[in-house]
Amino acid sequence: MLNKQAKEKIRTVIEQKEPVVVISHINPDGDAIGSSNALALYLKKKGVPVDVIIPNEVPDFLRWMPGFDNVMTFKNNSEACKKSVSNAGTIFLVDFNDPGRMGKLENEFNESKALRILIDHHENPVDFADVVISESWRGSAGEMIYLLMKEIDGSGFLDKEIATCLYVAIMTDTGNFRYGSSYAEIFNIAGELVTAGVDKDQIFTNVYDSYSEERMKLLGYCMSEKMVVLPEYHAAYISLTREELKRFNHQVGDTEGFVNIPFSIKGIRLTALFIEKKDHVKISLRSKGDFSVDHLAAKYFRGGGHINAAGGEYDLPLDKTIEKFESILSEFKDELQ
Ligand code: 5GP
Ligand code: MN
Repeated sequence: MLNKQAKEKIRTVIEQKEPVVVISHINPDGDAIGSSNALALYLKKKGVPVDVIIPNEVPDFLRWMPGFDNVMTFKNNSEACKKSVSNAGTIFLVDFNDPGRMGKLENEFNESKALRILIDHHENPVDFADVVISESWRGSAGEMIYLLMKEIDGSGFLDKEIATCLYVAIMTDTGNFRYGSSYAEIFNIAGELVTAGVDKDQIFTNVYDSYSEERMKLLGYCMSEKMVVLPEYHAAYISLTREELKRFNHQVGDTEGFVNIPFSIKGIRLTALFIEKKDHVKISLRSKGDFSVDHLAAKYFRGGGHINAAGGEYDLPLDKTIEKFESILSEFKDELQ
């Protein structure tokens, strides 16, 4: 996975022991936190001082992870984060392809003179790092961190804590080993993580069975009242207003996974979730098969991601955003047959 230059740079970072910052993306998911924490725990084990910085809040179902006490959120702790970024000799950018995904932390990043190393699996990365390790066919950044550590260190790096973080990263980004990105190599890696001692059943419980009662009721409401199925496009979408989120006492991460649920309907190959924010609409898109939601998100919604999972934003009100989405579907009608 690593070319000679990348391997040498990372070896030098480990040998020099200058402070490192690991940054991942806004609205972090299991791969963002899992891969960042695994990398940070590994560097720490090598004697490198390291902080993990995430632009905004981490959902509760990820806060139990090993190394989480070392994670800072820029939104809540901006002074300490600024200091950490300005002291860093190296910044690792993990699980995102566009500096805009750092939110307001992007300003601090731009001022830093640190070496920038990108480790990512999204399509079409923007050119913003000195060393670019970008493999869009990989199912998760966690898998890339695993391979990176293995290439640098053989297999001596893996302990239960690092393995647990990597397992969360891979499990969540492959939809619990279900999506097209879960090929044979992933199962081999997962097997090694289990051998290293991860408690996979406990991890599943921590991540997928730890929501509030209100979140389940919100999900039920979405399914019964808010889901729109468009059989002519093999598509379905759900939208939620700020008022509805408030009514169900919405907490960060509560809508995680909602976008995938309409796939249970026979024939659905494209899904969308629209969440009303204060000044924009956040959009999540998913597809099955060849239809690229990365392309759709990049073309119309200032976003991107992967062929089958992408996200973006739109600045018009929720109803106008949905109107726009439906008009886009008619443009892609042939591809969606
Ligand atoms: P989600 O729908 O779960 O927020 O994100 C799905 C995928 O698209 C993830 O890989 C995520 O990193 C990426 N993604 C989500 N929102 C955006 C966005 O606004 N811009 C870009 N470039 N990628 C996004
Ligand atoms: Mn990822």
